[in-house]
Amino acid sequence: KLIVFEGVEGCGKTSQMQLCSEWLESLGVSVVVTREPGGTELGLHLRRLLLEKSEDKPVAEVTELLLYAADRSQHVEQELKPNLAAGKYILCDRYTDSTIAYQGYGRGLNMSLINQLNYIATAGLESDLTIWLDVDVEVGLSRKLSDQLGLDRIEQETIAFHRRVQQGYAHLAASHPSRIVRVDGSLSKEAVQQVIQGILRV
Ligand code: C5P
Ligand code: MG
Repeated sequence: KLIVFEGVEGCGKTSQMQLCSEWLESLGVSVVVTREPGGTELGLHLRRLLLEKSEDKPVAEVTELLLYAADRSQHVEQELKPNLAAGKYILCDRYTDSTIAYQGYGRGLNMSLINQLNYIATAGLESDLTIWLDVDVEVGLSRKLSDQLGLDRIEQETIAFHRRVQQGYAHLAASHPSRIVRVDGSLSKEAVQQVIQGILRV
């Protein structure tokens, strides 16, 4: 099964995926945790190119879109398909909905181009379930600001950009009610994990 975690910056994907994988492993399930961008060796290079802070090295919007697509295509072929074929349970940090939310709603790039690229990059592979961790943009960004790493190139975008991304997730969830489940990410870490386990148990 392919389970994807989505949401705005600081929504808690990383810690929830970690807890979730520990829980599944305790049940004897064979789990793979991976992410986009950067779930492969090639993808790690692309992730660095995409996210490094760069006042003097702007990345054109369509270039950005194509690099995310390239990362995804490699990830699907090298990581997702083989692990699904081996019967593994995959927890994936971001997938096609990130491109719709960030490059589509956030940047305003052409949605039909994005959908075509998503289709090409995934060869039609969709998630079995997508968990959208919904937190206010301000709450998420303040979590990011309080950690040591500093903000990456995308996290440094305007608050208006992050709000558009958030609206993108809301629209996606409304239009794919059977694939995307909204989870209130403002609850405590433990409470969010309980909700997620409840969803995956059924
Ligand atoms: O760890 P995190 O998921 O935050 O790292 C991925 C980063 O890449 C995010 O900050 C997100 O803003 C950005 N991203 C993007 N467009 C995508 C996927 C990720 O801007 N399609
Ligand atoms: Mg981020």
